Amino acid sequence: MKKNFILAPGPTPVPQNVLLAMAQPIIHHRTPQFKEIFKQMNENLKYVFQTKNDIFTFAASGTGAMEAVVVNLLSAKDKAICIQSGKFGERWTELCKAYCVDTVIIDVEWGKAVEIARVKEVLEKHKDAKVIFSTYCETSTGVVTDIKAIADLVKDTDTVLVTDAVSALGGMDLQTDNWNIDVVVAGSQKGLMIPPGLAFCAVSSKAQKLVEVSKTSRYYFDFCLAKKALDKSDTAFTPAIGLCIGLNEALKMIKQETLEKVFQRHSCLAKAARAGVEAIGLKLFAETPADVVTAVCVPEGIDGAELVKIMRDDYGVTVAGGQAELKGKIFRLAQLGYMNEFDILTGLNCLEIVLTKLGYKFSLGKSVAAAEAVFLTYTQT
Ligand SMILES: *Cc1c(COP(=O)(O)O)cnc(C)c1O
Repeated sequence: MKKNFILAPGPTPVPQNVLLAMAQPIIHHRTPQFKEIFKQMNENLKYVFQTKNDIFTFAASGTGAMEAVVVNLLSAKDKAICIQSGKFGERWTELCKAYCVDTVIIDVEWGKAVEIARVKEVLEKHKDAKVIFSTYCETSTGVVTDIKAIADLVKDTDTVLVTDAVSALGGMDLQTDNWNIDVVVAGSQKGLMIPPGLAFCAVSSKAQKLVEVSKTSRYYFDFCLAKKALDKSDTAFTPAIGLCIGLNEALKMIKQETLEKVFQRHSCLAKAARAGVEAIGLKLFAETPADVVTAVCVPEGIDGAELVKIMRDDYGVTVAGGQAELKGKIFRLAQLGYMNEFDILTGLNCLEIVLTKLGYKFSLGKSVAAAEAVFLTYTQT
């Protein structure tokens, strides 16, 4: 008998009460009943985004929110700075290119976070850049970037800061308003604990000024249409009703646990995962590892693609492999969303079994013991 454990950085496990809420017969969206759910959902989203700004919800994957930002804030020939330190940072550049936006690329070696001094330099040199695109947790490399430090540089300029927090939101502290992040994008299938299909853009008034002058053609993703509807707790088009109902449940769970405890939990799980893999001689790929995903170098002589495949196909444990240039070289174990100690222990257990089968030598049980030791220090304090 095989059980499925999803330990990848999206999609992430969905809690049972959320699944049950989504399994109810569909309701119509132009009803007081849905309006109330939608209102609650939007209020609770603001809590999780730590913002008073408008948050627009679209039926799309996370990339839809990224595209929405590009088409609403920029016009062809505008200048934008793109911080690129992995697959998702590159996506900002690709989106800008698709809409003929001129890009200034800050290219960062994969596995590292951008140096803040470099961002400062580029911002000073390109004062005419309308937007700077950043990624909070670069899911492809497991690196966290100091977004607060970047926001401190950007806040007194005319440039608008956009942050991709698709994998970070609901796992790591992101103080949208206190840190002055103009636009935050997120998706539903990661820290928010529901299936893929919803995309979010939190938009400040500074960013809204760019929306008013952007000449890029847009329709479904138009922030003006979205705002007009949102002001009346409504949506311009048919919302993904079932996902909104599920999200409302998931957000209530986050609120009940409190954001502070949610971040502590992710931090503890990530510490345990890091301690676990390091205890059996594996190296972390990220220089500054994020608390929502642990990227691990596959040891010499082991095929990373094979490792991920056997874990999934023979044991039902899904972790993510490496993307693009990191294919076969790293694997990524998530600590994201609806997860606790036993998800991490399951991942490490399975990793030990499969690594042993593939011929990697270490003492069995060591990674699990190291993770357990971390959990014990947390429960003691
Ligand atoms: C998952 C993810 C996305 C969005 O991917 P979709 O497949 O479009 O949902 C964007 N950025 C980051 C950092 C991600 O982890």
